Amino acid sequence: MVQRGSGRRGDDAACPGFVRFGGISASPGDTVVSREALQLHVYAVLASIEAGRPGRVTDEYLGAVTAATEVDALELCTAGLWTRRADGYDVLESEVMRMASEVHRQLEDLTAQCHRTGGHEPDPQYPGFCSKCAVRLP
Ligand SMILES: [Zn+2]
Repeated sequence: MVQRGSGRRGDDAACPGFVRFGGISASPGDTVVSREALQLHVYAVLASIEAGRPGRVTDEYLGAVTAATEVDALELCTAGLWTRRADGYDVLESEVMRMASEVHRQLEDLTAQCHRTGGHEPDPQYPGFCSKCAVRLP
């Protein structure tokens, strides 16, 4: 467990800054990572799918996000979710990969459906977003 700053401890019961998850194989002693690391995990997985390289997180991507990604990436490696390879990381947590792939597929379907039915239409309830595919409109 990587420790940073004040109030960040491995004891997740006492510290809401940590998240315990184990996907479909949840059991005692599950992986515990900080919220920041989990956030990076989810965003990076989605970005890797968007980029057409599912599960591959490059140093270039991490460098473009925020300052503390190196520590979060190290934490994800320590937790066994990522592994260092060449100029980046490979994501090993298959349940998150599966969910992210499913979300990505659904978003692609919505986008395709939007295009088939005449393109974006502003949502009357949420101006600035498409009512059909939820994309932010220019
Ligand atoms: Zn649309």
